[in-house]
Amino acid sequence: MAPSGRGCAVCYNRRAVKNKIHPKWYPEAKVSCACGSTFTTGSTLPTISVEICSACHPLFTGQQKFIDTAGRVDKFNQRVALADKKKAEAKARKQKKDADEAAAAAV
Ligand SMILES: [Zn+2]
Repeated sequence: MAPSGRGCAVCYNRRAVKNKIHPKWYPEAKVSCACGSTFTTGSTLPTISVEICSACHPLFTGQQKFIDTAGRVDKFNQRVALADKKKAEAKARKQKKDADEAAAAAV
């Protein structure tokens, strides 16, 4: 009898586990990252796509990086730009109002 075969694909697919209650095991499942790096691992899925991996995660690279899921950073920058525009419009409105009041007072 083999020693405890936990993590061993041969044991997993043969006799170490019960029949018909475990999903299919892919010992060479392909993992592809958004950064372009690929590697293999054992998984119940034949292919896995991830957004971040050990080749591009800031913890491993030591560089700061924005993980922009669904354009959140872009959306934030758009909101900031919109707020600046509204502020400028409000300022122009107030200046016009002040000028109108000054003109009315002068009359
Ligand atoms: Zn990556």
